[in-house]
Amino acid sequence: MRAAVLHAPHEPLVIEHVDTPDALQPYEVRVATAAVGLCHSDHHVIDGRVARPMPVVLGHEASGVVTEVGPAVTDIAPGDHVVACFVVYCGACRMCRAGRPAMCQDREATMRPAGVEPRLSQGGREVHQWTNIGGFAEEMVLHRNAVTVIDDRMPLDLAAMLGCAVATGVGSARKVAGVGPGDHVVVIGAGGVGLNVCQGAAAAGAASVIALDRSDERLALAAERFGATHVVNTASVADPAALIREITDGGADHAFEAVGVPALVDLALDATARGGSVWAVGVFGDAARIDFSAAHLHSGKGVHGVRAGSLEPQKDLPALVAAYLAGELELEALAGRRIPLEAINEGIADLAAGVGARTLVVF
Ligand SMILES: [Zn+2]
Ligand SMILES: [Zn+2]
Repeated sequence: MRAAVLHAPHEPLVIEHVDTPDALQPYEVRVATAAVGLCHSDHHVIDGRVARPMPVVLGHEASGVVTEVGPAVTDIAPGDHVVACFVVYCGACRMCRAGRPAMCQDREATMRPAGVEPRLSQGGREVHQWTNIGGFAEEMVLHRNAVTVIDDRMPLDLAAMLGCAVATGVGSARKVAGVGPGDHVVVIGAGGVGLNVCQGAAAAGAASVIALDRSDERLALAAERFGATHVVNTASVADPAALIREITDGGADHAFEAVGVPALVDLALDATARGGSVWAVGVFGDAARIDFSAAHLHSGKGVHGVRAGSLEPQKDLPALVAAYLAGELELEALAGRRIPLEAINEGIADLAAGVGARTLVVF
């Protein structure tokens, strides 16, 4: 099958042939990829901020149709429509048993054992499958717990975005932070994840949802389609935190950093009210350190990490599909350009430049 392979950081992806195994392991499924979203976390690997073994097939929010299942898979069948999501969980560790699959401590258990033919290879040499997904490819061989079966009325192109952007964004606002009616909410970064934090907070009844970005195009999208009540272009406002404190009468109850830049966590703290919470949703580089005034802690403020919106795939992804089918979840406006695999480097360039919403590779 064809895949977009990253051989080294800072290089373009190369569309080339990659082998998948003829025989599945007992708990694996084979999926014909329908669509995959381009996410900033993919770009972090391309630009070297996040170091991963190479060569690698990136892509971690995908959708597709199951074509084959391993002998131990009894609840998924060929023809099923699925979302493939980077929250791949073992189902047996302490965190999984506690109902927290996003915090799984034994992802090794979801990979192929050593000595077995790898899921992806070229000329007998392993090609890595990023986040156990590798969605920039015509076909995915995945652990059963990497996929969730969805209602087949759900458009598959839009379904791809559920696995990262929507799950992380909506989940951060609703499940992790527990935004409630009357809360003042700040969202820094109006990309795929940030826009979904906005719509999650708006749906929860937030009194204000203030979106920050450097792109007027994205800010317009946040206000028109994702429930932002105010927008602030940080490229043109000298002191965004002061403006937010003014709008909210003292600062936000919840401030979400959805970019992955340490200085923006500091900005989020400055924009947060006494007793408020900063939620670090963005993916930071391996070397990132965050510097902020300890006085914020004496104001009762907290900084919290967020992982995948604490997604429980089997429960939350079907619920997101149901919300979309009921007209309660904005996805059309989230999807930007739809491009073929051959054009993936153009999509990556748009991602790096912060152009548009979510670019989708469609197969
Ligand atoms: Zn992502
Ligand atoms: Zn686990």
